[in-house]
Amino acid sequence: MYQMTTEDLELQQSARAFVDDLIPYEAEAELNEGELPPEVAQTMKARAKTSGLLATNMPKSLGGGGYSMFQQVLVQEQVGRATNGLAWMVSTPPQWWPEVATEFQTQRWIVPTIDGEAAECYAITEEYAGSDVDAITSTARRDRSDYVLDGVKWHVTSYNEATYAFFQGRLTNGPHAGEHAMFVVDLPTQGVRVVRTPAYSHTIAHHHPIVAFEGVRVPVSHLIGDEGGGMGFAYEWFRFERFMVAARCLGAAERLIDEATRFAAERVVYGQPIIDYQLVQAMLADSVTELFAARSIVYEAARGVDEGRDLKVQHAQASMVKLYSSEMANRVADRAVQIFGGRGYMRENVAERFFRELRVERIWEGTSEIQRVIIAAQLAKRGVTGLI
Ligand SMILES: Cc1cc2nc3c(=O)[nH]c(=O)nc-3n(C[C@H](O)[C@H](O)[C@H](O)COP(=O)(O)OP(=O)(O)OC[C@H]3O[C@@H](n4cnc5c(N)ncnc54)[C@H](O)[C@@H]3O)c2cc1C
Repeated sequence: MYQMTTEDLELQQSARAFVDDLIPYEAEAELNEGELPPEVAQTMKARAKTSGLLATNMPKSLGGGGYSMFQQVLVQEQVGRATNGLAWMVSTPPQWWPEVATEFQTQRWIVPTIDGEAAECYAITEEYAGSDVDAITSTARRDRSDYVLDGVKWHVTSYNEATYAFFQGRLTNGPHAGEHAMFVVDLPTQGVRVVRTPAYSHTIAHHHPIVAFEGVRVPVSHLIGDEGGGMGFAYEWFRFERFMVAARCLGAAERLIDEATRFAAERVVYGQPIIDYQLVQAMLADSVTELFAARSIVYEAARGVDEGRDLKVQHAQASMVKLYSSEMANRVADRAVQIFGGRGYMRENVAERFFRELRVERIWEGTSEIQRVIIAAQLAKRGVTGLI
């Protein structure tokens, strides 16, 4: 099915087996702030590396997997089958960076990240700048051979696991004053502090603190690309990550449908397994049909990226797959909770965890509304046949 090569199938199987070994730890992690037992975390991280699941999106020349977008989707689809972000250790570092990185940046951050020795986090969103990234008020001021960074960033995912942060700020001086620039800030660095770490709906080991950057000095060598290039990198990241979100939503939906179907076949109510009741059948049938539709467009759009489809079309299709898959997975999670009945409301149940965890997929990397805005704008320009 889906015209996969032997290499595709082997990669998919390897990722699936990896995630299957994490799934038994979910309920324990749920009650332990999302943490795996340390020895398990260590073993699995090492295995991710030896199985070639780390940095599938990075160039082979730097030690990455060099996989196609389609193959990366296959891996992240499996990652999505585990709750509590347990399989996030199968990481996809910033794939846009190697092309614009200096040799210094490559050796200092990119190679160690690919090796799993360093990890990034993104400090872009602010209290009043989320959907509209251009509204950021964080600043970057050139001062001789340094930049001085100031601003307060929100929802900085994985800050507690990261060894460096990408900081997007608006230049206040120089020829590009008013434009955005992206910097790397090592963690810890003087002037960077956590304002607070809010609690979120999901229970994962990666925190999303509010982080203040106060007079943070970084040398010019920490500027990525050119002054004024900041937004371009953010867009490239969004395009890539929207595919990864979509892929993980496919995996989540598959797991939910699997578990709900198995439960429905076993659970006897009024003398019959509930799978015999047509109202339950409808929930399962709708779910698997929508999963098939979502998977088909995600795979097709990913192959389009590999074939070098027009970049604007890729951008719109990334929005479509993210929009549809995230909304689909949320519908499936809602139905799965319903099928499990009272059990579906217990934190030890996979449906309960996914019900909470999947909600954010409709918000981060651009909300569903923003995806629709992007899709409609491209539709207006290109028409239906130019888009799909
Ligand atoms: C758990 C979590 C982790 C995150 N991780 C990171 C991270 O690591 N780094 C980072 O930089 N950011 C991160 N974010 C931020 C995330 O990308 C933003 O929350 C998201 O882009 C939405 O921005 P906002 O929250 O400011 O919502 P707002 O922009 O305030 O939007 C509020 C509402 O208005 C709607 N809206 C806005 N504009 C329009 C429009 N034009 N048309 C119709 N409706 C519109 C939105 O869809 C939404 O429903 C994270 C967020 C969460 C919740």
